[in-house]
Amino acid sequence: MDINHSTGENVITSTKGYMWFLCLNIIFCAWLFLRSTHNKDVESLPPALQLLCGCIVILALINLIITLKIKNNINDGVYHYALPFVVFAFGLLWSVLLLNVTIYYQDTMITLIMTVSVLLPATITFYISGRLLLLFSAPLALCLLYVEFFLQDKFSLAQFIGAVIMLLVIYSSRYILLEWYQRVQRSEYEKNILIKKLVQQAHYDALTGLFNRLSMARFFEECVSALSGNKKKLFMIVLDIDYFKQYNDRYGHVAGDKCLIKVSQCIEQSLRKETDSAFRFGGEEFVVMTVCNDISQAKSISHRIQHNIAHAHIPHEGSAISSVLTVSQGIAQWSEGVTLEGLVEQADKQLYQAKQNGRNRVCY
Ligand code: GH3
Ligand code: MG
Ligand code: MG
Repeated sequence: MDINHSTGENVITSTKGYMWFLCLNIIFCAWLFLRSTHNKDVESLPPALQLLCGCIVILALINLIITLKIKNNINDGVYHYALPFVVFAFGLLWSVLLLNVTIYYQDTMITLIMTVSVLLPATITFYISGRLLLLFSAPLALCLLYVEFFLQDKFSLAQFIGAVIMLLVIYSSRYILLEWYQRVQRSEYEKNILIKKLVQQAHYDALTGLFNRLSMARFFEECVSALSGNKKKLFMIVLDIDYFKQYNDRYGHVAGDKCLIKVSQCIEQSLRKETDSAFRFGGEEFVVMTVCNDISQAKSISHRIQHNIAHAHIPHEGSAISSVLTVSQGIAQWSEGVTLEGLVEQADKQLYQAKQNGRNRVCY
């Protein structure tokens, strides 16, 4: 679960959220500037403060362009490491600007309004990272408290408390957002686990971990379409454990299940990874599908399976033909137009033949 980065890490909500924050910085600067140029009652900003406004706008624009270029995830790469510096620069520039604006206009209210206006989008953008939020807000909060304390004509406790409450409201809202984010993350995590489980159940056999019958149909379709215009051939091997009823009777059903797992492991060990796939067909029957050049390669898979099962030395006292567990196998080659059911039927016929001929053998 990826919610550990909720504190400390330089993580922000989203690229879109960060771009929104940058745009708001530009808009606030523009408002501060236009307020003085388009309002006869307000004196225009002195050049130094206009320059500070310009610095914030330029910083925001550069960030905007980089963010647009990166597009994907700004939480990754060099930008991720540059973010604390950039965010701190924004906070510092704003606090210097607001402090001077307050001194210039002799109006402490503008600091309160602007601080809250700038801090609110910052909280929404950086709430995941306590570090980023602190870097941005600390200069602003200090600036606000300084203004309330030292720049008032007459210190007003009520206004000072008001400013503190404003800051508390903004900081506490971070925890509400964080809790919501963690809840979303948790449910996303649980949803992914559930999807994984469902995919597992849909494609794999619960006991042996091999592909199930449903996957067999999909694999067959894929093989058949890949084979068109190809010299390779598709073979199906059907395996059936010999005297498995007697195995269950002699050792019990739980041991029977363990035996099925061992057999499936032996089968898997005998396959070539790229071209062969094994499926649990049902009960104690397994299917192997293999794409190869000729029957000899399919036969050698069968013999490897037989060899691996023999070497697993699974005791089987109920078997009439051996002291250890054995399997019988039937191989069929797919030809144009044959359906999956048709191919299984052909391989089954060969398997029946193998059983008839004395078991523990491969028939083609
Ligand atoms: P044959 O050599 O002719 O194949 O004889 P067999 O006794 O193996 O006969 P068959 O193939 O018909 O046996 C099927 C048996 O497999 C019946 C059932 O008890 C057992 N079986 C099927 N599915 C499972 C399973 O999931 N677990 C266990 N333990 N046994 C199973
Ligand atoms: Mg059977
Ligand atoms: Mg059997």
